[in-house]
Amino acid sequence: MPDMRRLLRVRSESPDVPIDLDAIDPRSTPGLPGHKVTGKDPKLWARAEVERIGGELATQQEMLFAQAAVDPGQGRSVLLVLQAMDCGGKDGAVKRVAGAMNPLGLHIKAFGPPTSQERRGGFLWRIRKALPPVGYVGVFNRSHYEDVLVVRVNGLAPESVWRPRYEKINEFEREVVEGGTAVVKVMLHISRDEQRKRLMQRLVDPAKHWKFNPDDLDSRARWDDYHAAYAEALARCDSDSAPWYVLPADRKWYRDWALSHLLRQTFADLKLSYPQPDYDLAAQRRRLEADG
Ligand code: AMP
Ligand code: MG
Repeated sequence: MPDMRRLLRVRSESPDVPIDLDAIDPRSTPGLPGHKVTGKDPKLWARAEVERIGGELATQQEMLFAQAAVDPGQGRSVLLVLQAMDCGGKDGAVKRVAGAMNPLGLHIKAFGPPTSQERRGGFLWRIRKALPPVGYVGVFNRSHYEDVLVVRVNGLAPESVWRPRYEKINEFEREVVEGGTAVVKVMLHISRDEQRKRLMQRLVDPAKHWKFNPDDLDSRARWDDYHAAYAEALARCDSDSAPWYVLPADRKWYRDWALSHLLRQTFADLKLSYPQPDYDLAAQRRRLEADG
């Protein structure tokens, strides 16, 4: 099994040194085994693996849910934070990877521009409200990181407002982790060329027109500024308890495969099992048998 966490974890000498995103090839496939394992078609192999690992994820998620149902005080949660440039594949990753799990135990939340009411409580207010309850797997499609990304790049707030947010985010995430939630943060890393291709598909395919937003082209024009903002956020807000991963995402099949592994490894840390019944199993079985 490849150690995807080691391979994809961001590496920075210090929080003050931004992550060099240019050094990570969005078309690369770290950890993918060679042809001896995958056969001729790595894409086909990876898709089958995603199915297989998806089964494991579903079992783990059920254990998480069951433990919390039996003993909420000891229950845990998982939170996957997904960030990406437009067309980075967040929706696809949710569909393919989270989609393997039971919808009953998922807590999926997408974040758009905050309403004036949401703004009033501070940028973390709506995020706190959206955290997965105990026993649930939460997925954030965009997140509090937008408050140091789009807000910074588009000048929606002055630097005196967004700069202190890195530390606030770190404090907040520390609190979430201490509360029993395993946090995994993933930036789906696509190339400028791939984004262009995907945006064009949205303009060509009538079934995708709804996904296009003319603002996306303005964001695209600020690609370098966004990357600079990502580079700093990744470096400042990476920690062992709430790590950041950069996942090469030009190839969708690799994206799904790598993300499945990251989640599998996160679950493995929780050492989950089905809870022991708190009733006398044999006695209950006898009771039911007698009720012929
Ligand atoms: P999408 O994910 O394509 O549905 O787009 C959601 C939009 O909401 C993106 O353009 C984000 O930049 C924007 N957005 C999300 N969070 C914030 C935020 N905190 N402040 C401003 N814009 C945001
Ligand atoms: Mg969009």
